[in-house]
Amino acid sequence: MKDAQKDTILSHAGRDPRGNHGIVNPPVYHCSTVLFPTLAELEASDRTPFEGVHYGRMGTPTSYAFEEAVAELEGAFKSVSVGSGLNAIATALLAFTKAGDHVLITDSVYGPTRRFANDSLAAYGVEVEFYDPTIGEGIARLLKPNTSVVFLESPGSLTFEVQDVPAIAAAAKAVGATVIIDNTWATPLLFQPLRHGVDVSIHSATKYMVGHADAMLGVISCADEAHWLAVKKAATRTGACAGPDDLFLGLRGLRTLSVRLKQHEANALALAKWLSDRPEVTRVLHPAYPDCPGHALWKRDIGGSSGLFSVVMKPVPKVALAAMLDHMELFGMGYSWGGFESLILPVRPGAIRTATRWDDPGIVLRLHAGLEAADDLIRDLDAAFVRLNAAL
Ligand SMILES: *Cc1c(COP(=O)(O)O)cnc(C)c1O
Repeated sequence: MKDAQKDTILSHAGRDPRGNHGIVNPPVYHCSTVLFPTLAELEASDRTPFEGVHYGRMGTPTSYAFEEAVAELEGAFKSVSVGSGLNAIATALLAFTKAGDHVLITDSVYGPTRRFANDSLAAYGVEVEFYDPTIGEGIARLLKPNTSVVFLESPGSLTFEVQDVPAIAAAAKAVGATVIIDNTWATPLLFQPLRHGVDVSIHSATKYMVGHADAMLGVISCADEAHWLAVKKAATRTGACAGPDDLFLGLRGLRTLSVRLKQHEANALALAKWLSDRPEVTRVLHPAYPDCPGHALWKRDIGGSSGLFSVVMKPVPKVALAAMLDHMELFGMGYSWGGFESLILPVRPGAIRTATRWDDPGIVLRLHAGLEAADDLIRDLDAAFVRLNAAL
C-alpha cells in the first residue's frame, strides 16, 4: 500500500496470500537446483543472474520475500540477505573497496567489523583508518581523494555514541565515497538511514528482526540500483546467502517487531533509571540520557530507543564481579542480543580503540532488556548488587 505506516508494512510486506492458495504466510523454499525446461529458458536465466530464480545460492522466493519486506521498511531500492550480520558487513565492504583505496570506520564500531577491516581489507591493500564517532562534519578533514567508504555505526557498539549521520554522509558523498551504516541497534522502525543521505544500511537481523535468539541472519539495504547491484554482485561472488528456515524466522520475527521493540524500550528505560540511582553505578550509556555523547543528535534523528545499553560501575575486584554475575536468575550471560530474554555482559571498550581513548577505569556492563516484567528484572539486579557488596 502506498504511504502505509511501518506497523502496516510489518504486517503485510513480503507476502502474497492470493498467489499462494490463500495461505497467510509464504512457503519456505528449500532449494539448490532450479530446473529449466528449455535451452532458451536456461540461457535467458544465465543473462539475468542477479534477479529471478536461477540457483539456490543466488536468491529464492523465500529470500526475496524477506528482502522485499526489509527494503520497504528501510525505504530502500532493494535489499540483499546473507547468512549473518557480520557477513553483511564484510560483503558490503568488499563491494565498495579495492586495492589502493582508503576507508574510514568509526572507532565505536562492532569489534568483528574492525577485525575484518584490519585483517582482510588491509591484507588486500586497502588503507583502513578509524575516526572519532563524534567527529560530525569534521570528517571532511580525514577524507582523501581515494576514500571509497565511510562506515558508521550509530549508536556505537558497547558505548552508544550517537553520530551526526546526515553531516558525515554529506561530507563523504561530496568526495564520492560510499556511505555505509550498521543500523542494527535502531532497527528500521526507529531510524531509516537512507533518508539521511546513507547509501547502504546493514542489519544483523539475528538481533531484533529474528528476535528469538534462534537464527543467524544479515541484510543489506541499498538506496539505489547501482549500490544494490554492487552488493548483489559481491554476495554472488563470495557465495553469501541465507538458509531458508532462517529467512523464514526473520520474516516471522518482523511481524511482531514493533510491539516487541516497545517493550524492550520501556524495560531498558526502567532498568537504566533504576541503575542510574545506584551508588555502584557512575554512568549510564544510553542515547536517551543527556550525558550520552550525541544525545541531541539522538533526539533530532532517532527519538526512540531499543533495549541495549551499558552502565559504567566503580572499579571492583574480579571476585566481586564474579559474585555479582555468577548467580543471576533472569539475566543470561552471553553474546548477541535482540531476543526476548535479558542479557548482561562485562565488556572492555578501551581494549580495541585506536582513534579515541576510553580511560574510565570502571567496569562496563552491557545490558539487553528483554521482554520480562521490569520489576522482576530489577529484583534480579538488586540481588546481584547485594552479592557484589558482600564480596567486597
Ligand atoms: C551482533 C552484531 C553484528 C553481527 O551480527 P551477527 O548476525 O552476529 O553476525 C553486527 N553489528 C552489530 C552492531 C551487532 O551487534
